[in-house]
Amino acid sequence: MAWKAWCGGGIGPLHGNAYNGDSSQVMGLESGMSNAVIIVGTGLAGYTTAREFRKHDQRTSLILITQDDGRSYSKPQLSTGYRKGKSPDALAMADAVTMETQLDARIITRAEVQAVDAQACQVRLRDETLDYASLVLAVGAAPVDLPLGGDAAGEVHRVNDLQDYARFRAAADDGQRVLIIGGGLVGCEFANDLADAGKQVVQVFPESEPLARLAPEPAGAALREALGEIGVDVRTGLTVDAVDRAGSDYRATLSDGSQVTADVVLVAAGLRPRTQLASAAGLTVADGIVVDRYLRSSDGRIFALGDCAQVEGHVFQYVPPLTAAARALGATLAGDPTAVVYPAMPVMVKTSCCQVVCWPPADAAAGSWHYEGEAQAMRGEFRGPDGQLLGFVLTGKRMRERMELTEQLPTVIPG
Ligand SMILES: Cc1cc2nc3c(=O)[nH]c(=O)nc-3n(C[C@H](O)[C@H](O)[C@H](O)COP(=O)(O)OP(=O)(O)OC[C@H]3O[C@@H](n4cnc5c(N)ncnc54)[C@H](O)[C@@H]3O)c2cc1C
Repeated sequence: MAWKAWCGGGIGPLHGNAYNGDSSQVMGLESGMSNAVIIVGTGLAGYTTAREFRKHDQRTSLILITQDDGRSYSKPQLSTGYRKGKSPDALAMADAVTMETQLDARIITRAEVQAVDAQACQVRLRDETLDYASLVLAVGAAPVDLPLGGDAAGEVHRVNDLQDYARFRAAADDGQRVLIIGGGLVGCEFANDLADAGKQVVQVFPESEPLARLAPEPAGAALREALGEIGVDVRTGLTVDAVDRAGSDYRATLSDGSQVTADVVLVAAGLRPRTQLASAAGLTVADGIVVDRYLRSSDGRIFALGDCAQVEGHVFQYVPPLTAAARALGATLAGDPTAVVYPAMPVMVKTSCCQVVCWPPADAAAGSWHYEGEAQAMRGEFRGPDGQLLGFVLTGKRMRERMELTEQLPTVIPG
C-alpha cells in the first residue's frame, strides 16, 4: 500500500501502482504543485532521515532547512570531547556544502522556519516561502530554563549543539573551576569528562542520587561514589538559586545558603521538545509533536521524529529511537509506508569512572527491583509480578551482560 497525499487533497491509500523509485508518483501531484520533501532540522534526526530517503528515492527534490550552520556531527560526543581535546571543527564530520553533495539536496543554513502553513503546504522563512509535498519536523529539543536568580543568570552555559560546545569550551579553557547544575546523563558525563581533564568540578542537583529519572538509586549511588573518587564534589538534594558575578568569578548560592565560586557554570537540566512550530500550525502537541507509528502527525503530510516527537506516546531523546524512526520514515517518504518498530533500547551513560547502562521500567509498571553485586559490578533487574523482565541496570564490570538482558525485554512499539 502507498499513500497518496497532496495539498488540499488529503490522504488515502493508493493501490495497485508499481512503485518506480520516484516518490512524486505517490506524494503528489497535480501539475504546478511541489513534489519536494522538506526536512526542518539538520541534527541526527534530519540528516539520518535524508540519508534513508535517498536510499529509496534519488529523484525527488529534497530540501533541508536549519537555523544553525548545517554541519553534520554526532551530538553524544559533546559531553566527552573536552578531555580528548576535540575542537568543534574536529567533531564536525561534514559541512553543509558537503552534505548537499552527499544527499543531492538543497540545504538552507542559518534560516529559521518561522511558520508552517499546513493548508497551503508551505514553510515560511524570513526571505522565502517554500512549497512541500511532505514536511518533516526534526527540530529537536531546547534546554529547560531553570528559575535562576542573580545578576549572572544569563551567563550560564548550556550545551545542546556545536555552537554551544564552542562557547563552553572556550570558557572552560580559561578557567579551572566548573559548576555543573544537573545530575542526569549529560550533567554526569560532563562532570566526568571535565574532572578527567583536570578541572575542579562541583556538581549540584536536587535529587538524592544522580541519574534519578533513568536508573534506580543503587546505580546512581555507585556513579556518585565513582565521580567522587575522580575528584567531583557532588552535592545532592540542593538547587542553585542564584548565580552572581563576583569580580571575575561567578558566585552561586545554593538552597542551603552555601556558596560555590566558579569560573564557568554549566546547566544540564534536561531538554524540552520544540513544539511551537507544530502547535502554531495546528498540529496536535502533547509532551512532544504527537505522531503515530508512521511518524505522521495530525496532518497527514507532516511528519516528526527525534527529540521533538512523541511517537505513539513515547518521547525518547536518544539516538537509537531516532535512527529506527528515520529508517522507517525514509521509506514512507519514498512512497512505501513503513511503521517504526521500537525494541527496548537501553541507554548507555558514557561515564568512564563507572559506566552505566539502563532500561527503566515504564512509570506505571508493577514489580520490584532485585540486585546482585554492588557499586561498579552491579546487576539490577526489575521484574513484574509474573516474572517478566521489565527493566534493568548494569554498572562497570557487568556491562557485558546487557545483550542477554535486552533480548528479554518486551518490545516498546511492536511490528
Ligand atoms: C551532551 C549530550 C550528550 C548526549 N549523549 C547521548 C548518548 O550518549 N547517547 C544517545 O543515544 N543520545 C545522547 N544524547 C541525545 C542525542 O544526542 C539526541 O537525542 C539527538 O542528537 C537529537 O537529535 P535531533 O536531530 O532530534 O535534534 P537536534 O540535534 O537538536 O537538531 C535539531 C535541528 O533543528 C534545527 N531547528 C530547530 N528549530 C528550527 C527552526 N524553527 N527552523 C530551522 N531549524 C530549526 C536546529 O538548527 C537543528 O539543526 C545526548 C545529548 C546531549 C545534549
